[in-house]
Amino acid sequence: AALYNVDGWGAPYFFVNDDGDVAVRPHGAATLPGQEIDLAKVVAKAAGPRAGGGLGLPLPLLVRFPDVLRHRVETLNAAFGYAVRSTGYGSRYQGVYPVKCNQDRYVVEDIVEFGAPFGFGLEAGSKPELLLAMSCLAARGNPDALLICNGYKDDGYVSLALMARSMGLNTVIVLEQEEELDIVVDASRRLGLRPVVGMRAKLRTKHAGHFGSTSGEKGKFGLNATQILSVLTKLKAIAMLDCLQLLHFHIGSQIPTTDLLSDGVGEAAQIYCELARLGADMRVIDVGGGLGIDYDGTHSAQTDMSVAYSLEEYAAAVVGAVGRVCDRKGVQHPIICSESGRALVSHHSVLVFEAFSATAPGRLDAATAYLLDELTDDCRADYRNVMAAAVRGDYDTCALYADQLKRRSAEQFKEGVLGLEHLAAVDAFCELVARGMGAPEPPRTYHINLSVFTSLPDMWAIGQQFPIIPIQRLQERPAVDGVLSDLTCDSDGKVSEFIGGRHSLPLHELPTHATRGYYLGMFLGGAYQEALGGLHNLFGGPSVVRVSQCDGPHCFAVTRAAAGPSCADVLRAMQHEPEVMYEVLKQRTDGATAAALARAFGAMPYLVFDPEAAVLSSGESSGMSSDSEG
Ligand code: PLP
Repeated sequence: AALYNVDGWGAPYFFVNDDGDVAVRPHGAATLPGQEIDLAKVVAKAAGPRAGGGLGLPLPLLVRFPDVLRHRVETLNAAFGYAVRSTGYGSRYQGVYPVKCNQDRYVVEDIVEFGAPFGFGLEAGSKPELLLAMSCLAARGNPDALLICNGYKDDGYVSLALMARSMGLNTVIVLEQEEELDIVVDASRRLGLRPVVGMRAKLRTKHAGHFGSTSGEKGKFGLNATQILSVLTKLKAIAMLDCLQLLHFHIGSQIPTTDLLSDGVGEAAQIYCELARLGADMRVIDVGGGLGIDYDGTHSAQTDMSVAYSLEEYAAAVVGAVGRVCDRKGVQHPIICSESGRALVSHHSVLVFEAFSATAPGRLDAATAYLLDELTDDCRADYRNVMAAAVRGDYDTCALYADQLKRRSAEQFKEGVLGLEHLAAVDAFCELVARGMGAPEPPRTYHINLSVFTSLPDMWAIGQQFPIIPIQRLQERPAVDGVLSDLTCDSDGKVSEFIGGRHSLPLHELPTHATRGYYLGMFLGGAYQEALGGLHNLFGGPSVVRVSQCDGPHCFAVTRAAAGPSCADVLRAMQHEPEVMYEVLKQRTDGATAAALARAFGAMPYLVFDPEAAVLSSGESSGMSSDSEG
């Protein structure tokens, strides 16, 4: 556990149990002994053969823990509740979940349900997001819950938001651009509905990390001081100033420190007080997202991978800053809303995938060593110099001649003087000598049954790092340093940077196929990755299970299980018609081949390992493609 700093980034949800497996505390620190869930056992249940009581789902596998989600929602609300009570703040916290972080139906439904006692709502940034937020809040939300409408808006979006208000949902249309005001006014008049309007302010406060480009004067979003005043004047002129009730800002995800946070919230609170002074009917300050996640467990503000505060400290800083400014200005304390996404959903899921092979270290044995004697005179001279330096313990000279030997043999291979066996023997010899001289062994490449582009898009696109560790054998010291290479035919499809500034990951020797797989987990990836991921090489999403803690020692229930998109599904996404394709191909086959072909269309695109036969077969899965309750 210490090797991977599990306690640093994983607490209070993930730890290593006495069996050396990663286990989950589904209720965080409130988890009782015996309620922990062994992740390796979940994988065995989900991916194990049906004949043995498993669900036969192909990997990769996304394991969702709704209990963790509930704990996050409750912890966030408790933190703000405490900050409000302990400072005598004169109003309340009422947050929303920005659905862009993870629009999965069950994630959104869970958050709305778990958040209902706190009046917790949703934030949408597009028409489909608004539709899902509307239906979810209508079905199971607290009537007071806010429905915040952010993002670029056209008449269709605004009309939808107004309809939401007419249905009794507590909807606020947040102006991101000055031009949106006309759209809102026109649509309201046409539909005969009075809107509640918010404004997104462009703050001067800016954070320096990757996500800080959202903020500052040159940020992409929001209204500057001139535009805010212009909206105010227009609303006043048409007797709609009372419609303006909310001020929103967002200084970027992963806000590094509470100092910066207090600075930004303080600036926004000043704008809020000015709007109140100028006659708007202000009620809510919406501090946006930014509540950060400690991906590397260092609890520091030095990189985007961590933040230097706890959730409780974040809440205290927000409430403190709003209260201070409003008190100074004599303005009534507003409802505080936050749009915390990353902090709510990051912990709730674990992506499990399999390492199925690894590059082997170079081999030089009695059967191949003779090849070195067959080298050309030049190469043999280099070879002898390497040996002599090695015997003397002269590391630098040894490395110099080894490089020369490799270069020269490669040139001679290109000229056709040396054969492939000679080249391999030289490589193996140089590797052997380097190891003998104590040079660090280059990391081995572990091939993983995953697409980085589909499942870890932020890792590829913006260098985001997520904790990745083996989920079993953690009582055994890993003997190998490895990097991970994915299934796509793309050299960017790799993971070679790991939390803690590491360029390789400590890994165990792979078991032989007969003894079953070697599973790795990617943690804290519950936010953004699922919707951002693409279909490179037509690898679709993973299988998904929902796992809840249930009564009984270490007992869990798989309450939903679904295989990932099939080959036919991903082909359809690119406008192919699998049914037509099948018919075309069927003309050229007999009955048995046609049946196999049909199964290939229905299978997941990932590799399939048959634990029974202990062979690697590509393409065919158990054929499960629809949801099943377990
Ligand atoms: N609100 C807005 C307007 C955003 O742009 C974002 C994300 O960037 C969020 C909320 C969610 O932020 P976070 O995931 O940092 O909580």
